[in-house]
Amino acid sequence: MGKSSKDKRDAYYRLAKEEGWRARSAYKLLQLDEEFNLFESVTRVVDLCAAPGSWSQVLSRVLIKGEKFGRAGWEQKQRETREYVLGLSKSKSKEVDVPASEDGGAVQDVKEGEKKRQRDGVRIVAIDLQPMSPLEGVTTLRADITHPSTIPLMLKALDPDIYDSTSTSPSPSAPVDLVISDGAPDVTGLHDLDIYVQSQLLWAALNLALCVLKPGGKFVAKIFRGKDVDLLFAQLKLVFARVRVAKPRSSRASSIEAFVVCEGFRPPAGFKPSLEKPLGAGTTLPIPDENPEATKPSRTVRADGAVEIDLGDESDEEGIEEGGARWIAPFLACGDLSAYDSDATYALPKDRVSLDPVQPPTAPPYKRALEMRKLAGGAYGKTKGQERKEGS
Ligand code: SAM
Repeated sequence: MGKSSKDKRDAYYRLAKEEGWRARSAYKLLQLDEEFNLFESVTRVVDLCAAPGSWSQVLSRVLIKGEKFGRAGWEQKQRETREYVLGLSKSKSKEVDVPASEDGGAVQDVKEGEKKRQRDGVRIVAIDLQPMSPLEGVTTLRADITHPSTIPLMLKALDPDIYDSTSTSPSPSAPVDLVISDGAPDVTGLHDLDIYVQSQLLWAALNLALCVLKPGGKFVAKIFRGKDVDLLFAQLKLVFARVRVAKPRSSRASSIEAFVVCEGFRPPAGFKPSLEKPLGAGTTLPIPDENPEATKPSRTVRADGAVEIDLGDESDEEGIEEGGARWIAPFLACGDLSAYDSDATYALPKDRVSLDPVQPPTAPPYKRALEMRKLAGGAYGKTKGQERKEGS
């Protein structure tokens, strides 16, 4: 797929290049933030499967540079408009006081019409199999999120001064507020296989999140909506007070991709994350019977031996219980309705010049194939027929 055909097809692909994002995925995170206010009071974040880095860019710009997007940006615009209408400000570009943040972040003037708020104690760690070009304030690690050796690397990156590499504890001294994961395998087109591999990435991300999240923390991850995805939601509901599924407008309707947004991390009492026995197929979260201090969620063993897991609390109204361990998470479409539709094709002006990508891939998986093709002398190399002709 050439650059210009993507340009014609995809409004978010073009917009990302115009607005300086490394990938169109940035809009997915921004639209999720618009709906869920993900970055409120957040200072410590782990970004899993982060390359080429557009989600980390969003984190860097919001947490380090204090820029406002998503709901925070929208609220600021509303405040400005209100003040303008009430005659409190002469123009919409006049500076407006932003109330002190809960996280105690410093308020700093950067340019007219806008106050940027930098936060204190920000730490962003980004992990991917692929190398990632540096970003301001982001510590990047090249590692496999499914491998246990990634845990100490991540903890050291979170606490470079404190973490002792001989420590056997899988938890950081200061836990994180948010773990995000946009992990995706190289899609094969075989639906069941793709869904399976993607779910393994999601379990790996959840295992890492359980090691580092603080109580009340948030976990956001890409999912492929396969037929048993509600079992996964039920597992997530055991450790998060609120689990919802969202489809940002920038994610194509034709794609089975969606994002699970989990809020209010509530580890069962006495729960110790362990990568010796990671969660995944065959291993589920510890249940309260083994853990007498835990109050919720609870389980009941019915007369027929079936186990019912109580996923209920006050925030459950939105979810649909199907009985047993199945629970269907509420589904939300997010992103402003005036935003581009990722499945639509928009007419482009004839004189439009296609821009280069902001950050070309550093080591794309197809690099070796391109090199081999070049060595072979062209798009398909020499065919057997050509070789025979040359030989005769
Ligand atoms: N969020 C990124 C951004 O905004 O630029 C895009 C992520 S891209 C859709 C998916 C990423 O998952 C790829 O960069 C890939 O290398 C990474 N990935 C896949 N399997 C992984 C694994 N086992 N460990 C770490 N990263 C992985």
